[in-house]
Amino acid sequence: MQGQGISLTEFLIQEQRKAVGATGELTLLISDIARSCKAIAREVRYGALVGNLGQAGEENIQGEAQQKLDVLSNDIMVNILRRSGHVAAMISEENDEVIRVPKQNRGKYLVCFDPLDGSSNINIDMCIGTIFSVMRCPEGVDEPAEEHFLQPGSEQVCAGFCVYGPAVTLVMTTGNGAHGFTLDQGVGEFILTHPNIRIAEEAKEFAINMSNRRFWEPPVRRFIEECEQGKEGPLDKEFNMRWIASFVAEVYRILMRGGVWTYPLDDKLKTRGLEGRLRLMYEANPMGFIVEQAGGVISTGRERVMALKPKDIHQRVPLFLGAKKEMELIESYHREWDQNQQ
Ligand code: AMP
Repeated sequence: MQGQGISLTEFLIQEQRKAVGATGELTLLISDIARSCKAIAREVRYGALVGNLGQAGEENIQGEAQQKLDVLSNDIMVNILRRSGHVAAMISEENDEVIRVPKQNRGKYLVCFDPLDGSSNINIDMCIGTIFSVMRCPEGVDEPAEEHFLQPGSEQVCAGFCVYGPAVTLVMTTGNGAHGFTLDQGVGEFILTHPNIRIAEEAKEFAINMSNRRFWEPPVRRFIEECEQGKEGPLDKEFNMRWIASFVAEVYRILMRGGVWTYPLDDKLKTRGLEGRLRLMYEANPMGFIVEQAGGVISTGRERVMALKPKDIHQRVPLFLGAKKEMELIESYHREWDQNQQ
C-alpha cells in the first residue's frame, strides 16, 4: 500500500462532492495550506544544517522573542496564501495587523494561523507545529479588516494543525469528523492514516504546568488534587501526568490517547494583565473545532470556547480540553465555586 493510500487531495475532493454547489475554492485553499506545512516541515527538518536555528533578533506582537524558524514559517504561509487566489485576507500570531492580499488575488476566505507553535521547543528538537483556521469573508466586504475576523469559532469552515514530530502529521476538520494524515516524505503527499479520530470519554491522564500550582484558582486546584489522590480520592481511579509544553503535541496526544489538557487563567497571568495563556483565534478556536468533532469538550472552564465572540484578534483565553467526563467535572467545579462566591 506504500504511496497508494488516500491522499489529502483525494479526500478533500470526496468531501467537496458532498457539498452542494462547491466550486473547489476551499479544496484548493486547504491544499495550499498543506503545501505550506510541507515547506515548513522541510525547514524544520534541516534545522541547524542550513542555519535555521537560533533567534531572529525581533519580538512578535505577543512580546515573545522570535526564532529564525518562526519568521521563516510565517513567510512561507504568507507567501503561499497570498498567491493562492482563495484568500481575502489573513491574520498571523506573528503579525500585529491584518495581512492584506493584492486585489487581483483575493478569494472568499479569511485564514488565521500560528505558523510555528511551540517555539520554545525548536532548539531542543521537540515537537512543534502549525495551526490554521478558515472562515468565510462576510458578504460584500472588499477590504477585510480586523473586525471581519472577529467571528465565533462555530463559524469556522475548516480548522487543522500539523505536527512536526518524528512523523509529520496533519489533523483537520471541515465539520464532518476529525481526520489525521501522515506525510509520506518520499511521495510528498499527506496520506489518510487516522480517519474519524475519537477522544475517549474518560481520561486516564491529565496535563498541567504544575509549577504554577500556587497561582491557580480553587476549582482548578480541586480537580488536580483529586487526580493526584487517585483511587484514594473521590475520582476513584489512578491518573498519570503528562506535560510536553508544546500545544500541538499535547492536543495530538489527547486525540490519540485521551486525557485532559489544561492551561487555566492564574494569578501570574493576571498580574501581567493577561486573560489566559492560549490565543483564542490562533490556538483555541481551531483546536476547538477539531476536539468537538472528535467527541471531546473544550472550554474556558466556564464557557464553550467555540461560542465566544472574539474581542480582538490577539485575545487570550483560559483553556481546558479533552475527555467528556472529566471536562464536565472541571466545568461543574467552576460553577460551584462561582455560585459560592455570590
Ligand atoms: P467552495 O465553493 O469550494 O468555496 O465551497 C463552498 C462551501 O462548500 C465551503 O465553504 C464548504 O462549506 C463546502 N466545501 C467545499 N469544499 C469542501 C471540502 N473539500 N470539504 C468540506 N466542505 C467543503
